[in-house]
Amino acid sequence: MAVAGEFDLIERIRARAASRPDVILGIGDDAALLQVPAGHELAVTTDTLIAGVHFPADTEAQDIGWKALAVNLSDLAAMGAEPAWISLALTMPESDADWLDAFLDGFCELAAEHRLALIGGDTTRGPLSITITAHGLVPAGTALRRDGAGFNDDIWVTGTIGDAAGALSQWRGKALMSAKLRHRLDRPTPRIAAGIALRGLASAAIDISDGLLADLGHVLRRSGSGAELDLGRLPTSRTLAEHFPGDADRWRLQLGGGDDYELCFTAAPAHALAIEQAMAACETSATVIGRITGEPGLRLGTPEGEKFETGASGYLHFEGKPN
Ligand code: ADP
Ligand code: MG
Repeated sequence: MAVAGEFDLIERIRARAASRPDVILGIGDDAALLQVPAGHELAVTTDTLIAGVHFPADTEAQDIGWKALAVNLSDLAAMGAEPAWISLALTMPESDADWLDAFLDGFCELAAEHRLALIGGDTTRGPLSITITAHGLVPAGTALRRDGAGFNDDIWVTGTIGDAAGALSQWRGKALMSAKLRHRLDRPTPRIAAGIALRGLASAAIDISDGLLADLGHVLRRSGSGAELDLGRLPTSRTLAEHFPGDADRWRLQLGGGDDYELCFTAAPAHALAIEQAMAACETSATVIGRITGEPGLRLGTPEGEKFETGASGYLHFEGKPN
């Protein structure tokens, strides 16, 4: 292990930090100075990842770097914001320069994909934990919020759901983890282009971090509505279907498991065609899985038209893990 002092660590980070013209002052001063373009609002979000809670303790440093950034960008995607600036608060058990370099490989790879500037942060010693604050820009008044779902709106999800939960389920059961499922857990794709394309089309949006039921539940509460979901329509990867062939087991993963970082959004049925075109233009699949109802609560229907009960409601950090 290459041991480094705090300033050496910060220097290693600074040396790899990209900038952009709207950063007036970046890493190195007491605070960063940033130029918000006229007519835009700033969307700001923070998420922390803790070893053993948000990723298995044996996760590669590169994957931790990617995921810590991805989960924050996913929040901006769910707002329809275009990510611009990030800050990184890093707590490490030892000043391990090799670990930091590997962490930065994954972090910088995703940051470069979205042309982000790393504008500052904090570096401290303690149990491994990463807190990122991501700043995004959105034309004034166009952000996608949780409180806009309307009666009879379609409920959509991007991509496929349940893969990350499948990997976690194999990990908890000490089963061999499918490499494909594990990749979805370690390297989620924030749906930035889809979020931006949904401005003006989606009535509400959220990213699926804690599970579809939990996250859609937030939208329903904030919008004062209920929903019906058709379980036969849940978008499912072939890998998940192969590893979890039983419908009920797989549905529980897809409904209760988080970590996919897909978007769940609602939209008036009149926008369905425009949404299909917008999603095709950004090479993101999206599927209607149900609709918003006036009656509060979530009703789940099987393809045979039967009611489906699930004990799982998603991950609640202070209430333990439901099964
Ligand atoms: P201060 O004591 O003023 O908080 P620090 O020594 O913590 O300053 O940081 C010095 C500079 O390096 C600051 O501009 C800070 O934003 C930046 N910095 C510190 N840690 C990180 C990090 N993990 N990632 C990016 N920038 C960092
Ligand atoms: Mg500091």
